[in-house]
Amino acid sequence: MNNKHSEKYVFRLKTKKGVLREVKKHSTNNNYEACGIILGEDNYPEYKAVEVIRSDNIEKSSLSFEVDPDSFIEAHKKANKHGIEVIGFYHSHLSGDCAPSKKDKKGMKRWPDHVWLISASKDKNIEMEKEKDEIDLNLSAYMYTQNRYSDVEIVKI
Ligand SMILES: [Zn+2]
Repeated sequence: MNNKHSEKYVFRLKTKKGVLREVKKHSTNNNYEACGIILGEDNYPEYKAVEVIRSDNIEKSSLSFEVDPDSFIEAHKKANKHGIEVIGFYHSHLSGDCAPSKKDKKGMKRWPDHVWLISASKDKNIEMEKEKDEIDLNLSAYMYTQNRYSDVEIVKI
């Protein structure tokens, strides 16, 4: 799952700056793992993230997350309305490590062909300034597809 060891990326997540910004914003200043749902276009093996729906982490855990079913319903409604789809999920790791946990991997397996975007920072208290697009958070994306785990390249558009 490490970028260093992956060959060429097969899977891509194209994301608008605003989407990454929203994920980063949500991922800072949180005591629990932040999580949400990614809406966009599924052009397998390429995905395009259009917007994200924030969710409460109903596990209220700093080590894992569970998306609120109500947010999931909201996401589906919004996707239908906008003619897009639920293409994946995002969540944060407070440990500073973007690698998926054992539980994440189980979740990925339950949601094959869905992108898992993970943000990580050791510093929970980074201030997000309006004009500042680059903050000290790492972002990585993964997917379980064709019976294996794969890295997903994040392409800013
Ligand atoms: Zn995780």
